[in-house]
Amino acid sequence: MNDEKKTNITVLLQAGRLPLDIMAEARTLAEKHDLGIYLTTMQNLRLTGVPEKVLEEVKSSLAALGADFKGPGKFPIPRVCVGMGHCNLGIIDTEAFSTTIVEKFGERKHTKAKFKIAVAGCTMCCPGVKTSDIGIMATRNGYEVFVGGKGGPYPKIGRRIAKKVTESEVMDIMAVLVEFHDRKTEKKQRFHKLLDDPEFPFKEI
Ligand code: SF4
Repeated sequence: MNDEKKTNITVLLQAGRLPLDIMAEARTLAEKHDLGIYLTTMQNLRLTGVPEKVLEEVKSSLAALGADFKGPGKFPIPRVCVGMGHCNLGIIDTEAFSTTIVEKFGERKHTKAKFKIAVAGCTMCCPGVKTSDIGIMATRNGYEVFVGGKGGPYPKIGRRIAKKVTESEVMDIMAVLVEFHDRKTEKKQRFHKLLDDPEFPFKEI
């Protein structure tokens, strides 16, 4: 029996986009080391069944191409729909919106686990904005922001805390929410459990 220890590596992808050079290298590594390739529900790329003895080799090959890896404390990259230009209903460029979020918050360290963000290009909510910790939905009349949604075995619909707001106002709201989650959370916490905290900073609208 082969009892070689194996692990997984998750490459973080911005707005679900897979750079061609990383895709090519992942294929090469998968063929070389007999790895699996899985596209995660958070739109990242996971190499599965990585023998621990080649872990550093695999990571450094991908890191040389600019790959960033999932790890403790990292701020979550939003899950986005394909958005304007690729979907007829799209009102906004979701990739650009996600990039703005990552530029504003991506350097934060020590983000607690179980914190998910979603951005939808219209009210159809394809990426699950109402079942994410922070959900941002584009409408013809500005953005709506939802907090405290979750999936899993006991799903919850997020509470709407803003409507008809601008992108800049969304970023300000997110900054307050991110700080609140950080301050109120020891290790991991879905936002849903914080909605009824007396200090929760927004009303339902
Ligand atoms: S949320 Fe709207 S814009 Fe985004 S993929 Fe779905 S239908 Fe298209």
